[in-house]
Amino acid sequence: MRNPLRQIILILSGMVLLPVLFFTLYEVLTLNSNEKLIESIYESQLQSVIYSVNQYSQDYVTNWSSSINSIIYNSKNDEEKMREQMGKFILENPSVIRIFLCDSSLYNNVVFENRGSVFTIGKDNEEIKRLLQNNRMKIKRLFGYQKSGYNKIETLNEKGDDSCSVLIFISSEEFGQKNIVGIVINPSGFIESVLAPKIQEISRDDIIITCYKTEDNSIIYSNISIGLEDFQWTGALWLLQGYNLAISLKGRTIEGLVKQRSVTNLIMIFIVAIILVLGVLLVYRSTKREIEFAQLKSDFVSNVSHELRTPLALISMFAETLEMNRITSEKKRQDYYRIISQETARLNRIVNTILNFSKMEAGKREYRFESVDLNDIVSGVMGTYSFHLKNKGFTSSIGLYDGKLSIEADREALSEAFINLLDNAVKYSADKKEISIRTGVSSGNVFLSVKDSGIGISENDRHKIFDKFFRVTNGLVHNTKGTGMGLSIVKHIVEAHHGRIKLESELNTGSIFTIELPLKVISNEDEVENV
Ligand code: ADP
Repeated sequence: MRNPLRQIILILSGMVLLPVLFFTLYEVLTLNSNEKLIESIYESQLQSVIYSVNQYSQDYVTNWSSSINSIIYNSKNDEEKMREQMGKFILENPSVIRIFLCDSSLYNNVVFENRGSVFTIGKDNEEIKRLLQNNRMKIKRLFGYQKSGYNKIETLNEKGDDSCSVLIFISSEEFGQKNIVGIVINPSGFIESVLAPKIQEISRDDIIITCYKTEDNSIIYSNISIGLEDFQWTGALWLLQGYNLAISLKGRTIEGLVKQRSVTNLIMIFIVAIILVLGVLLVYRSTKREIEFAQLKSDFVSNVSHELRTPLALISMFAETLEMNRITSEKKRQDYYRIISQETARLNRIVNTILNFSKMEAGKREYRFESVDLNDIVSGVMGTYSFHLKNKGFTSSIGLYDGKLSIEADREALSEAFINLLDNAVKYSADKKEISIRTGVSSGNVFLSVKDSGIGISENDRHKIFDKFFRVTNGLVHNTKGTGMGLSIVKHIVEAHHGRIKLESELNTGSIFTIELPLKVISNEDEVENV
C-alpha cells in the first residue's frame, strides 16, 4: 500500500468512522438510562392524569360544601326550610345518601335523609355520634384549619362499612351552633355519576382509566373493560378511602413503548453507521483505484519512452554507420538496411497502437463490419507471422476448423487482436517456445485460441491484465518491453464484435487466450469442435 493511500485511510477513519463508532457505542451504552428517562416521563404524565381526576373530585365536593353552606345560611332557625332545601340537594346529587349537621360537642346532631321520596330529619343519631367521637382528632384539626381561613374537607373512616364514605367540613360559626357538616355518600355512585364523565373526557380513547376497590380489587368503573393486572400505574382517590385509580396506555405498555422506541432508534443508528461505513469503503476503493491508475499512467509513459528509444537508437546507429560509408561488405550493408527497415516497422507498429488506443478511448474507433471467414483471417495473419515465429525459434501448430466460420467482423481489427495475442505469446515465453493456434465452434460461437507454454499469469493478476496500462511487474515480464495497451485493445475489439475474451493460465506452465465471437452461418453443422 502506498503512502498517500495509507494517509487517506487514516483521515477517513479519523473523520468518519471513529465518530460514528463512538456515537453508536455511546447510544448503546446510554440506551438503558434513556429508557428509564422516557419511562419516568411517561409515568409522570400518567400520574398527572390521576392528579387531575382527584383534583376534579375535590373541586366537585368543594362546590357541594358551598351549596350546603348557603342552604344553612339561608334557612337559619327555620328547620322546615332547611329540610326542604337539603332534600332538594340530595335529590339533585344521587350519590349523596344523607347530610348531617352537628355541634362541637359531637353529640347533638341533625340528619337530613331521603327515604323513598320523603325527606326526613333525624336527630341525635347514635351512629353519627359514634363516628364523630371516633374521629375526634381529625375534627379538631378541621376546626384549626377553619380558624386559619382554610375550608378543608376530610374523609372519615367508618370501619366495617364500605358502602358509604363520609365527607366532613366545618361551616362558619355565624351560621349556627351545628357547624360540623357531614355528607354521607355512596362511593360507587359518586364514581359513576361524578367521576365517570370526567374520566371519559380526559382519557380521550388514548388511555385506560379504571376505579377499583382496593379491598377486593373489584372494578367500579373503567372507560374500557380490561383486567386490573394489565395496568401500569395506580394512585389513591383522595376523597374515597379504599378506592384507587389504575391507569395504562391503550394497546401497549410503557415498557413496550419505550423498548419499541429504543429498538427503532438502535436500528436507525446501525443503518446510518452501515451506510457511512459503506460510503467510506466506496471512497476508499475509488481513491485506491485512482491512485493505482495514476501510477499505471506514469509507468506507461516510461514504458512507451523505452519502447520508442530502442528502435530509434538502432536506426540512428545503423544509418550513421552506413552514412559514413565504412561498410565494405555488401552483405553486411544489406543486413543493416534490413535492421533499419525492421526497426522502422516496429516504430510504426508502436505509434499505430498508441493512435488506435487513443481513438478507442475517445470512442472514435470505427469498425467496418463485413461477412468474413475466421479461418481466412487466421491463415492470412499466419502467412506473414509464421516466418517471424520461426526466426524467434518457436514451433507453431495450427488447428483450423474444418469448415467455414462465417462471422460479421472488421477484418483488420480482428487481425490486429490476433497479432496482439501472438506477440504476447512470443514475448512472455521463456525456454519452451511452443505456440498453438486453433479455431472452432463451441456453444453457438466461433472461437480462436492462442496457446503458449510461457510464464503464465498468477491468479491475482488474471483479472487485471485486460485493464489499460496494466503490466505484471515481476519476473520475466519486468524485463520484457511493452506498454500495457495490447490486451485492453484486444478486449475492446472483441467486445465491439459482441464477443468475449477468455483466459486460462497457470503460472510457469502457459496461457490460453480464447476469443469467442457470435457465429453467423455455419457451413458444416455436424462438425462441431469443443474447446
Ligand atoms: P504489454 O504486453 O505491452 O505489457 P498487454 O496489454 O499486451 O501489454 O499485456 C498486459 C500484461 O499481461 C503483460 O504485461 C503481461 O504481464 C501479461 N501477459 C499478456 N499476455 C501474456 C502471456 N501470453 N503470458 C503471460 N503473461 C501475459
